[in-house]
Amino acid sequence: MAFNYNPVKIYVEEGIRHTVLCQRVLSRFPGVAVEIITDATTILERATCEEKALWQNTLLLAAQRGPFLRLCPGTMNHICCLYHNLDVAAGCNLGCSYCILQGYLDNPLVTVYCNTADMYAELEDKLYSHVGQFYRIGTGELSDSLTFDDFLGLGEELVRFFADKTNAIIELKTKSVNVTGLAGLPHNGRTVVSWSMNAHEISSREEALAPGIDERLRAAREMQSAGYKLGFHFDPMIYFPGWEDGYRETVDKIFKYIHPENIVWISLGSLRYPAAFDQVIRENHPESEIVLGELLPGRDKKLRYFRPLRTQMFRQMNAWIKNYSPDALVYLCMESKTVWEQTFNMTPTNSAELKKMLDARVK
Ligand code: SF4
Repeated sequence: MAFNYNPVKIYVEEGIRHTVLCQRVLSRFPGVAVEIITDATTILERATCEEKALWQNTLLLAAQRGPFLRLCPGTMNHICCLYHNLDVAAGCNLGCSYCILQGYLDNPLVTVYCNTADMYAELEDKLYSHVGQFYRIGTGELSDSLTFDDFLGLGEELVRFFADKTNAIIELKTKSVNVTGLAGLPHNGRTVVSWSMNAHEISSREEALAPGIDERLRAAREMQSAGYKLGFHFDPMIYFPGWEDGYRETVDKIFKYIHPENIVWISLGSLRYPAAFDQVIRENHPESEIVLGELLPGRDKKLRYFRPLRTQMFRQMNAWIKNYSPDALVYLCMESKTVWEQTFNMTPTNSAELKKMLDARVK
């Protein structure tokens, strides 16, 4: 069977070789060379030092040594949504030019953490010991939540795990169309499936390996039919001449495919990255045009578009969305109170208030 991603070699850390997830992955790739290793660190070090091309399409099945669940670090001096990241994998095969993972992960490996029994125990412990707290949890921070799911099958496990949780939801955030395994599951409204969206001009140029906008929306419609709550994330919004038509067209399409009442949130975020990342994009994606924009350092030292341009883009998007869905919860990712005010004529007083607004949509 052909998968969306086909490794040429699989390294398996000895300690996790008998786990359910490791065995499942190995059974899906019977013809691929497998090497058992005692410690994943040595492979990570080699992959970091040696030429990248040697390690392309290499899959590492290893143990997560730290906690699986972490509060999103957000960004200094900006309003954040107090989201929790669940790190089940690191690395992605979709190769978006702007992907910040190119700066975080210094090798091209895809690592899947197979000690999922530890992950579920950690989640149980966290959720039961903090019953008064509500958690929005997502797996899309160090990878795409579903791009590998045709052979990992973790989406289904997570949907089933969260179905009876009263103080948490899981968000599966993706650009992929690997959703067939999720249809028909007893999700009990505890899973949000969400898609990263963009203008067609950006997705075709800067997200060239990812499914197109219409394909993503057809997958979203399938999940709508399966009764899931849906989210959409326009992040990063990228300026280009004619951006108004491009982004408006995508908003129009969302509401052509999806009923407004099934959308729990839509986020907006502008292109942003640390200054040093500029060079990484130029080296990895010489064809990319995103580094040609005029970007200035903000209070968190990340480069962003000039504030009037960001607010203009956000205001327009908000207006187009509200035209279809006056009650939609549109929020900004990693922006200042000033930009919130200029976009919506209101701002959450702090990150906790934004968290409360988002939690209310799914509680
Ligand atoms: S889909 Fe997400 S994680 Fe994958 S390359 Fe694109 S931005 Fe990075």
